Amino acid sequence: MGGCLPHDSDWQDCLVEAVRSPAELCGLLGLPAARVGEMELAAADFPMLVPRAWLGRVRRGDLADPLLRQVLPTVEECRPVDGFTADPLAESRAACSAGLLKKYQGRALVVATPTCAVHCRYCFRRHFPFDRLECESGRLAAALAAIDADASIAEVILSGGDPLMLADDRLAGLAQALERIEHVRRLRIHTRMPIVIPQRVTPSLVGVLRATRRAVIVVVQVNHPAEIDQHVAAALERLVDAGIPVLNQSVLLRGVNDRAEVLESLCRRLVDLRVLPYYLHQLDRVAGAAHFEVPEQEGRALVKALRARLPGYAVPRYVRETPGQTAKEPLA
Ligand SMILES: *Cc1c(COP(=O)(O)O)cnc(C)c1O
Ligand code: SF4
Repeated sequence: MGGCLPHDSDWQDCLVEAVRSPAELCGLLGLPAARVGEMELAAADFPMLVPRAWLGRVRRGDLADPLLRQVLPTVEECRPVDGFTADPLAESRAACSAGLLKKYQGRALVVATPTCAVHCRYCFRRHFPFDRLECESGRLAAALAAIDADASIAEVILSGGDPLMLADDRLAGLAQALERIEHVRRLRIHTRMPIVIPQRVTPSLVGVLRATRRAVIVVVQVNHPAEIDQHVAAALERLVDAGIPVLNQSVLLRGVNDRAEVLESLCRRLVDLRVLPYYLHQLDRVAGAAHFEVPEQEGRALVKALRARLPGYAVPRYVRETPGQTAKEPLA
């Protein structure tokens, strides 16, 4: 495992070369060309974006592949369903133009960048009004000023989008600016990048994360064990070996991880890699994602099955996010 260590140009090339056209995707994976039209329609307001590193883990010719399902635009997204809305968490009201969300005591979430390396079709921010955010430098300066002015903020969560879309010098600048604010003790990074483009975890990135005197915690998102190939395992290992706690959150998704065997094998694989399962999220009811929803009752039964099969620390907390609550709401 491991092999040669990745350079900056590797992940940047992966971004440039990502697959953005449904026709190309169908060609690469041997999927029926007749489906291209519907995929293009579904991708109209939330474009398809899939890095080739991800495609390498997808089974050819199988529309039901659990990894493909997460990224493939389908006609089901176009169907309006009652209760599924553009902004299920009422975030656009909570977020000021600075892209700073302070919903929970002691923690503030910063939209470090609106972009991601992959477009997950179930994403609750798929309709987020990112275009209303100020440009990056002005926005981050405003966010830092707001954090500086609020001594109750002990933890800053870099989110997005995906904060690891920022180049290392931008991240280092952000980490240094936060380090200068005395009351900020912890820096948390919510990212899917080590999973979708594991080449992002370069020695230089690890160096940036280790350089800050604040505690750094990385929270990744893996939904299915097949997402973890040897390159992803090596990337996670580089983070953990550097002494950085790595946690995982998953979203409970129909047709992806809605069986106890799948979740069990995911949790085992994670703890074997020294990554702790943190949350299993009930799907946020965002328009276009209704076909991914698993009823809560079924979710509870799945978590109960996990508890019977795994050590306590390997069982994620099953939670739902409800607007107006002071914390994520436990469901099991
Ligand atoms: C989920 C979330 C957090 C972090 O919550 P934890 O339970 O500490 O992981 C903080 N702010 C916002 C806006 C969130 O959505
Ligand atoms: S990486 Fe996260 S923010 Fe980006 S599309 Fe996927 S779920 Fe949404």
